[in-house]
This record gives sequence, structure tokens and C-alpha cells, in this order.
Amino acid sequence: MTRGIVNRILPFSSVDGPGNRTAIFLQGCNFNCLYCHNPETISDCLHCGKCIEECPYGALTLENNKVIWNKTLCKKCDKCLEVCPNNSSPKAISMNIDEVLKEINKTKVFISGITVSGGECTLQCDFLTSLFKEVKKMGLTCFVDTNGSTPLYNQKELIEVMDMAMVDLKSYNPKEHKILTGMDNKVVLENIKYLAGINKLYEVRTVIVPKVLNNHYTVDMTSKLIASLNPNIRYKIIKYRPIGVRTDMIDSYTPSDEMMEALKNIAKENGCKNIILV
Ligand code: SF4
Ligand code: SF4
Repeated sequence: MTRGIVNRILPFSSVDGPGNRTAIFLQGCNFNCLYCHNPETISDCLHCGKCIEECPYGALTLENNKVIWNKTLCKKCDKCLEVCPNNSSPKAISMNIDEVLKEINKTKVFISGITVSGGECTLQCDFLTSLFKEVKKMGLTCFVDTNGSTPLYNQKELIEVMDMAMVDLKSYNPKEHKILTGMDNKVVLENIKYLAGINKLYEVRTVIVPKVLNNHYTVDMTSKLIASLNPNIRYKIIKYRPIGVRTDMIDSYTPSDEMMEALKNIAKENGCKNIILV
């Protein structure tokens, strides 16, 4: 049976798509964003064992050269994440579809659907597609939160079962996007156009990072693109916040409310009808 590497499952989330949702974070990402807010989801665990001795509660052990996480003993202090030199987590586990469904069943009556995020969830496309096929049978909606780097127009099976996607457009400038993430934004832009064309684009997201990015240009160009595709697609403009994120690779600060309002006005003047500031 198809298996996925799951970083964690959040039973309830109100910020990962419409309504109350169960959010599932898959391990592994092909971007390496300077301001990554989930750096422990980037890489697969190398089982180097470095985190074992740092766990104050004895929740990590080495068995057959593999780090084993004891969920019952874990107190969620995240000391293991702080010391991992590999942007990984010993708490990411391999799960089959039935095991994930068992978790979703616990929240099923309280949620309208699931959102699968990451890391970059579309890198585990077969697992994602199989999961969505089963979740749809439960009468729940299936959303994807993606960095947009996987050509979704080539993943017809996934697209068929996926209700909608939320796509990050971190920078409109391909060179700047590459400096920020490690990859240019060609496929991201193609995905946004493709998903809008089939009415499966729920939201485009941009994080505003003063000093580092040309935020004005990105919001201007992105909002023009959204307005040309469908002005009702939501544009979420997000403040960079140096809390719980990798801060050693970036020199920035949280943008002011005035700056955010000015960016919102640009998007509004360009024709976007559904803009939210976060
Ligand atoms: S989580 Fe990091 S530190 Fe721990 S075993 Fe894996 S790679 Fe090593
Ligand atoms: S989060 Fe859990 S496994 Fe990691 S160090 Fe803390 S108690 Fe140990």
C-alpha cells in the first residue's frame, strides 16, 4: 500500500483553507526558503542520531541504525528540531493511507475537509492522490497547500480528486524567487494560470519581507495576474514575522500595518476583489 512520510497532523486548523480543517504536513521540500517557517520539514531524516541525546525525556532511541520516536514519551519540547543539522525531524513517520484515515476519522464530524501541506506535499503525489480518493468517499473536501513547483498540469489524477489549491507566489521576479527559494518561478506561474483556468485555485499567497524582497513589484504584478484570471480568487498578503522561523539567513523585520495597507491598495486598484492581510 502507498505510504507517505508525514511530519505531523494538526486535528483542527482554521487558517489552512475554508472552514475547520484537519491539516496534514508531509515531509520533504524542494525549496529552501531563506525565511522558511517549517525548516524541520525540508529534508528526510538521515538517522545520524544527533538528536537522541538532546531529548530530555528519552523519547528517541536508535534501533537497527534508525531513530525511533516514542510518541507517548514525547513532551513536544522540540529540542530535537533545534539541534538537527539537516532540517529534519525524528518525529516524521511513515504512514499508510489507512493510518492517516484513522486520524481523520477522529475529527471527521467537526471538519469540512482536509488540507495537505508540507514541506511540499505534491512531491509525494501518488500518496496524496490515493489519500484524496479515500477522503472524498468520506464526504470531505480535499485542498492542497503548495509552493507551486510541481507541474500540476501533468498530474491529472491528482487534479481530478483535489477540490482546490492554495499556491505561494513568493516573488514575481524569477531571479529574486531563485535567490529566496533556490528555484525560479516559471512552473509556479504556469500552475497558477492552469489552476485558475479550471476553477481550482482557491488562494495565492505572498509573504512580505522588507529589506530583502521587492515586495511592491511582486504585489503589483501578482495582483494584475489574479485580476486577469479571475478577480475573485483570494490574494492573501502575509506579514513576515521573525518568530518560529529560520532567522539566521535573513535580515528583515515585520512590515508595518501602513505598509500592508498600501500593498493592499495596490492589489485593489489592479482589480483584485478578494484581498486579505494576515
Ligand atoms: S532528525 Fe536530524 S538530528 Fe535527528 S537523526 Fe534525523 S537527521 Fe539526525
Ligand atoms: S520534541 Fe519530543 S522527541 Fe523531540 S526532544 Fe522534545 S520530547 Fe524529545
